[in-house]
Amino acid sequence: MPVYSRLSPGGANAASEVPARPFVLAAQQYVADPTRSVGDLHPFYTYAHVPAGYTGDAADAIVAQVERFAPGFRDRIRATAVCSTTQMSRKNANYVGGDIVSGANDPLQLVFRPRVTLHPYATGADGVFLCSAATPPGAGAHGMSGYWAAQAALRSLT
Ligand SMILES: Cc1cc2nc3c(=O)[nH]c(=O)nc-3n(C[C@H](O)[C@H](O)[C@H](O)COP(=O)(O)OP(=O)(O)OC[C@H]3O[C@@H](n4cnc5c(N)ncnc54)[C@H](O)[C@@H]3O)c2cc1C
Repeated sequence: MPVYSRLSPGGANAASEVPARPFVLAAQQYVADPTRSVGDLHPFYTYAHVPAGYTGDAADAIVAQVERFAPGFRDRIRATAVCSTTQMSRKNANYVGGDIVSGANDPLQLVFRPRVTLHPYATGADGVFLCSAATPPGAGAHGMSGYWAAQAALRSLT
């Protein structure tokens, strides 16, 4: 059973070390998509909250935390793949320092991102609009940034 570990920053005030018992989110996507498995070999995906700017490897702490709730888990691991916060930020420039929610998701940022404006989806170029987690209402798999950007585009046609 391979472990796929992803790391995300815990916040600006977090200490520089991963806690011995970190917050761990675990998922077994192969339950919905069996093509991810090979026989009895199944991917097990996790991520942990780590301090902002953390560059270390939290895999051991993650495995220990899962082991607490599922004794014997460690012995069933066949391979691991770790993606650090630095790698996350290289893959996606919006994930500065590995921050998977593209910056502070405070009330102000839910409305005013990427800048303070009444037209957050406008780019300044005619007919070109911006959506994504970098625009209101911010990060999350809700699709509303695209919806509101499309509304802005439609309004520009009338
Ligand atoms: C590990 C992790 C866990 C998360 N957990 C949750 C959760 O539990 N609940 C939740 O609501 N949100 C969660 N999020 C946040 C959520 O996934 C993101 O906020 C959301 O997907 C952002 O949507 P987006 O459209 O801005 O970008 P993305 O979903 O990243 O989409 C951008 C797309 O553009 C493509 N692309 C990039 N550059 C180019 C290019 N030059 N040409 C063509 N295509 C390009 C990329 O391949 C990608 O498909 C999580 C994020 C991560 C990383």
